[in-house]
Amino acid sequence: MSDLPVDEQDLYKKRLQLTLEASGLDLWENNLSTGEVVFGLTKIFADLGYSEDEQASEISDIFTLMHPDDVMMVEKAITDHIDGLTERYYSEFRIRAQSGQWVWYANYGKIIDDAVFGSRFIGVSFSLADKKRQEEELLALNTRLSEQNAQLERLNAELHTLATRDPLTGIYNRRHLLEVGEREYQRSRRFAHPLTLLIVDIDFFKRINDTWGHVTGDLVIRAVAECCVNEAREAIDTVGRIGGEEFAIVLPETPLAAGLAFAERLRQCVAEMRVTTHDGIDEAAVTLSIGVAELTADCRDFRDLVALTDHALYRAKRGGRNRTQGHGASSSAS
Ligand code: GH3
Ligand code: MG
Ligand code: MG
Repeated sequence: MSDLPVDEQDLYKKRLQLTLEASGLDLWENNLSTGEVVFGLTKIFADLGYSEDEQASEISDIFTLMHPDDVMMVEKAITDHIDGLTERYYSEFRIRAQSGQWVWYANYGKIIDDAVFGSRFIGVSFSLADKKRQEEELLALNTRLSEQNAQLERLNAELHTLATRDPLTGIYNRRHLLEVGEREYQRSRRFAHPLTLLIVDIDFFKRINDTWGHVTGDLVIRAVAECCVNEAREAIDTVGRIGGEEFAIVLPETPLAAGLAFAERLRQCVAEMRVTTHDGIDEAAVTLSIGVAELTADCRDFRDLVALTDHALYRAKRGGRNRTQGHGASSSAS
């Protein structure tokens, strides 16, 4: 450019100034052999609130104002470029403003070897404040979003519990038990595997309420539910409360004989159980009537199996209560 007539040099200078002004770029130039800042960085230093005599005259001046976490990365980007590893030099860093606040900037530059002026490192600096603010806003938004997602998952889990569990006993409710039963019905049909259902009813439960009140009645219902769960195979059988003092247990992969044996264990367990009454004075005892039925060829859905089991339960009640009655079979025990 020094070969150009002075007028034209002036025109180039003006064009360059206008470009820098419009783009918000700050041009800098360092002498690599002396470390001297030959040109520029005036805009950045003014933006950061420094007076003219506080502006950088050596490259090292800039490093003293740079955030300590960024220094190594910037130095590496410079060295990589000097060593010819990168085509262009680029780095992002924070500079301390006069006010003490950290402000984000980026540098973009290149070493230019000039026969007259020697090796010069020329580049531009520009503010990253907007970009970093957007990044931070995005990060905050993402954090909020993942917090809300986690809360949604918690609420969904709670909702699922509310929709599937019986609040008094914590075991499954009627609706969920029927859903599970229908699934198990389909499975045993498809694979021709046995499926057995138990319906369990507390005998003369009204008397418990009448004698000791509803609160004790509730304690008894909970204790019976606990017995059912304890007797059941974890993760295989499904235990639900299907009415006030009535429970159902779905036993997949189980033929009638095994179902009857299960029901007998449960009946005996409850018969031996004593529940301390609400006032802590007495001990309540209850017995169970249990209907047991295995899925038969003429069942068209799970509800048909429920009907067979209900019928067996009815016979157990009629037979004198405190007993187990299997469907079809003359199996009955007490
Ligand atoms: P059975 O031997 O024929 O089954 O007689 P039962 O008294 O057990 O049967 P019934 O159907 O006559 O009475 C059931 C009672 O269960 C009536 C109702 O007040 C009571 N009950 C239903 N749900 C609850 C409950 O959640 N808590 C309490 N404490 N009692 C309940
Ligand atoms: Mg009853
Ligand atoms: Mg009942």
